Amino acid sequence: MDWIRLSKSGKDLTGLKGRLIEVTEDELAKHNTKEDCWICIRGFVYNVTPYMEYHPGGEDELMKAAGTDGTDLFDQVHRWVNYESMLKECLVGRMAVKPIAISSTLSEDKKQLNGMLPEKKLPGASAKDLTPSYNWFQTDSLITIVIYTKQKGMNAELVIVDCQDKRLRGEIIVDDHSYVVEVDLDHAVQDNVAVTFAEKVGKVEIILKKKDNIHWKMLGQPLESHNTFIKRMDRGLFYRKCKLVSKMEVTHDTKLFCLMLPKSTHLHVPTGQHVYLKQIIAGTEVVKPYTPVLPYLPLDFKQPSPSDGAHIYLMIKIYSCGLFTQALDHLQIGDCISVSNPEGNFKKSQVQTSEDLFLLAAGTGFTPMVKLLNFALTEVSCLRTVKLIFFNKTEDDILWRNQLEQLALKDERFEVQFILSQPTKDWVGKEGKISSSFLSEFVKRSRKDSKVLICICGPTLFTEQGVQYLKDLGYSQEEIYAFTA
Ligand code: FAD
Ligand code: NAP
Repeated sequence: MDWIRLSKSGKDLTGLKGRLIEVTEDELAKHNTKEDCWICIRGFVYNVTPYMEYHPGGEDELMKAAGTDGTDLFDQVHRWVNYESMLKECLVGRMAVKPIAISSTLSEDKKQLNGMLPEKKLPGASAKDLTPSYNWFQTDSLITIVIYTKQKGMNAELVIVDCQDKRLRGEIIVDDHSYVVEVDLDHAVQDNVAVTFAEKVGKVEIILKKKDNIHWKMLGQPLESHNTFIKRMDRGLFYRKCKLVSKMEVTHDTKLFCLMLPKSTHLHVPTGQHVYLKQIIAGTEVVKPYTPVLPYLPLDFKQPSPSDGAHIYLMIKIYSCGLFTQALDHLQIGDCISVSNPEGNFKKSQVQTSEDLFLLAAGTGFTPMVKLLNFALTEVSCLRTVKLIFFNKTEDDILWRNQLEQLALKDERFEVQFILSQPTKDWVGKEGKISSSFLSEFVKRSRKDSKVLICICGPTLFTEQGVQYLKDLGYSQEEIYAFTA
C-alpha cells in the first residue's frame, strides 16, 4: 500500500520528468547500484531505486538484475505479477533495438513472421529512432499483436485496425507519421477485433480470436506496407466497406446517413477530421470528403459522447445536380459504401487552451463544428464562451436549429447566432453575408487578454474571406483555424 501511495503521489520516480528514452545496453549497464538501479523487463527499462525498500524479496533480490535484462529472473519468481502496472511510474523507456524494416523487396528469410523480427540495427539508425516496433504471441484461443509506439498518450483515435479475409492491417498514428502492420494471417480468425492501450507506456495490443484453437507457427506473410513508418501524407487511403443502416431527413435537402463499420474494424474519427467516401459512378471511381458528426447534439454535456465506435454519422447535403450526392441518395438501406481512414490536421489541443471559442459555419460547413462543440463543452474546463455564428440562405436551410437553440438554453457558456443571406420577410433575425462588421459585432474576447480560437468552415470563398476579415480585425494566424480540403 505504501508503494501504491508513493507511486500515485505524482513524484518523479524516474528522474526524467515524465520523458521516455531509448536505453542502450551500455547505458543500462551504468545504472547498477542500489542508489541508481535500472532493470530491463521484456524490453522495457525501469528505474527500480525508489521501489527497493518496498520489494517483498528485499533489495538483494532486485540487485541481482541491476543494470541488466532481468526478464528471465523475473519470470522465475514473479511471472504472475503485473509489473507493468506496479512499476509504470518507474518506466524509463525501451531498449534501443530496432527490427529490420521490410521493404517491398523481401528477402526469402524475412518472408515469414515468426515472432519479433531480427533485432538488427538498420545502417545509420540512431538510438533516438522513434520507429515503433511490434511483437506477437498466442494462447490457445487468441493472437495478440503488441505494438510498441514509443509515444505516451496513445488513445482510440490513434489506432485503426481492419481484419478481413485473413488480411490484418493495423495503423498507428504518431504525430504526422503512420506505422503500419499488415499481414496475411497464417490462419483464419473470428470477426471481432479488440484493441487495448497502455496509455502511459505507449503500448497497443490488437487481440484476435482464433477460428480454430490450433498453434500458429507464424503470424503470417507480410504484405506491402508491413512494418513501415512513413509520413501520413505519403500513405495511400485505405478503405473498408460500411453498411448504410439508416438515412434521416435533417432539412429539405440534407440527410443524416448512418454507416455501420465492419465488426473487425476499429476506427474512431477524431474531432475536426474527415473521411473519404468512394463509389463507382458510371464505371468510374469517385471520391469525396465528408466530416463525421454525432447522431444528435447531446444537451447534457456531462454524459459521454453518443458515438459508440461502431457507427459513423454523416450529414450530407444532396445537390440536385451533384454527381456524388445524387448517387449517395440512391443507396438503399443495407447497401455498402467504401469509407477511408480519417484525414485532417486539426488538433484538439488547440481548443484545450482556449477561453473563448468562436465557430463560424456556412451551410454544411457546420459539420466539423458538431464534434468540436461537443468536445469543447464536455472536456475543456477553461472555456468561458462558445459561440456559433451560423450562415445560411434561408430558415429552412438551418441544420439542427432546434437542437442548437435548446443547447443554448441549457448551457450558459453556449450561444448561437443565425444569419440568413436570402431570408423571407418574416425573418426577424440577422440578415446578410459574412463581413467585417458582422465579425466585429460577434467575435469579441470575453476579457482583454483572453485566449481565443476561431474556427471557420463553409464554401471556399466564404472561408477565405472570413479569414481575411479576421486578420484585418487583428486576430493572429494562431488564433484562426480554417477547415479546408
Ligand atoms: P458536384 O457534382 O461536385 O457538384 C454539382 C453541383 O452541386 C455544383 O454545380 C453546385 O451547384 C453544387 N455543389 C457541389 N458542391 C458544392 C459546394 N461545395 N458548394 C456549393 N455548391 C456545390 N459536404 C456535406 O454535405 N457534408 C460534409 O460533411 C462535408 N464535408 C466535407 C469535408 C471536406 C474536407 C470538404 C473539402 C468538403 C466537404 N463536403 C461536405 C462537400 C463534399 O465533399 C462535396 O463537395 C459535396 O457533397 C458535393 O458533391 P457532389 O459530387 O454531389 O457535387
Ligand atoms: P450554401 O447553402 O450554398 O451557403 C451557405 C451560406 O454561405 C449562405 O448564406 C451563402 O450565401 C453563404 N455563402 C456562399 N458562398 C459565399 C461566399 N463566397 N461568400 C460569402 N458567403 C457565401 O452552402 P452549402 O451548399 O451548404 O455548402 C457548404 C460548403 O462547405 C461546401 O462548399 C462544402 O464543400 C464546404 N464544407 C467544407 C468542409 C471542410 O472541412 N473543409 C466541411 C463541410 C462542408 P448566398 O446566399 O450568397 O449563397
